[in-house]
Parts: sequence; structure tokens; C-alpha cells
Amino acid sequence: MIAVLASNNTHKLEEIRALLSDKFERVCSLADVNIHTDIDETGVTFEENAFIKANTIFDMLGGKYAVIADDSGLCVDALNGAPGVYSARYAGEPCDDGKNNRLLLQNLHEREKVFPKNRRAYFASVVAAVLPDGRKLCGEGRVYGEVLDEYRGSGGFGYDPLFFCDELGKTFAEASMEEKNTVSHRARAIAALREKL
Ligand code: IMP
Repeated sequence: MIAVLASNNTHKLEEIRALLSDKFERVCSLADVNIHTDIDETGVTFEENAFIKANTIFDMLGGKYAVIADDSGLCVDALNGAPGVYSARYAGEPCDDGKNNRLLLQNLHEREKVFPKNRRAYFASVVAAVLPDGRKLCGEGRVYGEVLDEYRGSGGFGYDPLFFCDELGKTFAEASMEEKNTVSHRARAIAALREKL
């Protein structure tokens, strides 16, 4: 079976491909199947958005291929779970990782003028699969850590330089992709999905 990953994020593509390539004959990107579109993520949960993306691409491809989509984000305790499903466009559109990270720190610093410092946070991911035989499956994963005050590391993407992972003892931007894939929210969501595939 051929799978298409419903994402334009090259980092996510790389991560997901490394974790699912043994389950499918081929794992293609949207560019491989000539789809260049941005899907409106109108859901209010990671699961809703993951299925919106997977279903949209599944229909565009006429139901011939398995379609896999991830929706993920950073949930910060002190910000009542924000940026959450709005992680990609936290500082507005177009998505800008630098602006998102700066706004996150700014909002935490504002709050800390009044409330005690609490930097606990987790990344969450839901990976959804829509299959040509009609099955719709998903898996969910989380990884816990803290939001730092300064950037550390140069790898990864998004909030990686600010997210200090409890289990790795370093930020995601300091970890190799292999290390990140041993604990990441996406790897865990995919492991949960693989059980069902
Ligand atoms: P999505 O593409 O709508 O799922 O948005 C995901 C957003 O969440 C990304 O643009 C990042 O800002 C953030 N995010 C999700 N996973 C990660 C990760 O592994 N590292 C850093 N940021 C992430």
C-alpha cells in the first residue's frame, strides 16, 4: 500500500517517514502527488484537525491511497494549554517559528509578573490514517518538559530550541532526529497508530 503524508512541513515528513516506512510500500509527500494546497485547520482539537487534513487529501486523491496526517502542538500549563492547536500560527499568519517563540516567552514573562513561575509543558500529537478500505484510525502521543528562557541548540523546528525534554535532559533542538524519535509526541502517536494498523 502507498501512503501519502498530508503535510507540507519537511521536518514532520522526515520524522514520520522514518517511523512508518516499514508499514507501507512507499511513503510519499504531497509534492510527490502534485498537491500544493494549504488546508484550513478549523478544528478545536488535535484529533479533529488531523482528520480534517487526512480526509481532505484522501478525497482529493480519489480514495486510492492511504493518507496519514499529523496535528500537533505545544501545550503550556501556565497558559491554560496555549498555544495548543494554534501552535503553528500563534503569532499570526504566515507561520513564523521565530515570532511564535518570542510571543511564547513574552506571554510567560507577562504572566510571571503576577503569578509564580511555572514552565511545565508538553507536546501533543495525533496522527490520523484514512485507508482505502474505509478504516479511519488514529494514535495520540505526548512528551513532557519545560519551556526555557533562552534558546538552546540548532536542530529541529518550531518550539524545539525552547523545549527542554525531561526524558532526554536536553532541548529537542540539541537532540539528533534519532534521539528525538525515541521519545517524541509524534513517535508515540505513530506507535499507538501502528498497533491498530
Ligand atoms: P500543525 O502543522 O498544524 O500540526 O502545527 C504544528 C505546530 O506545532 C508546528 O508549526 C510547531 O510550531 C509546533 N510543533 C509540533 N510539533 C513540534 C515539534 O516536534 N517540535 C517543535 N514544534 C512542534
